[in-house]
Amino acid sequence: MGNNIFDPLIKIYNNDSCICCHGKPNGVGLFQPKDSIEWGGYQNKQRFIRYCFCEECLKTDGFPEFVEYLLSQKFKSGELTQ
Ligand SMILES: [Zn+2]
Repeated sequence: MGNNIFDPLIKIYNNDSCICCHGKPNGVGLFQPKDSIEWGGYQNKQRFIRYCFCEECLKTDGFPEFVEYLLSQKFKSGELTQ
């Protein structure tokens, strides 16, 4: 228990901020794109993109779609490194 490979990803770090409002995050999500290659990954290898969110933004309608949009913008601008 507590020893899976995602542990270091799921921890909230001091410099993390909510992907939507840039406020203090309450949780960490892993976005799993349907097409890894489009997102800089490899075929047959699942890509996960880590992001932080706060409780308020999580409650917003269309939150998952908005996160996907924000992440795709970051990816295109080269801001996403992991
Ligand atoms: Zn927020």
